[in-house]
Amino acid sequence: MDEKCKKIMKCLSDYIDGEVSENLCKMVEQHLEQCFECRCIVNSLKNIVELLHQLPEEHIPEEMEKKLLERLRQALFN
Ligand SMILES: [Zn+2]
Repeated sequence: MDEKCKKIMKCLSDYIDGEVSENLCKMVEQHLEQCFECRCIVNSLKNIVELLHQLPEEHIPEEMEKKLLERLRQALFN
């Protein structure tokens, strides 16, 4: 994994949550187009987030979702 990927990964959970600035968003998307590895990771993270959102009743607090994504990211890159 190169430096660029690491940089992208840092803002990935924000990106998925739609919480990044437009510039950053573009940067991430451009990178994703070129980088298969990161694209796979984003897809898996998105799937997980979607699953979380589909859970009925007991809605997972945003804080917990963030922590979960953080864990996943660490698991993927350690
Ligand atoms: Zn990458």
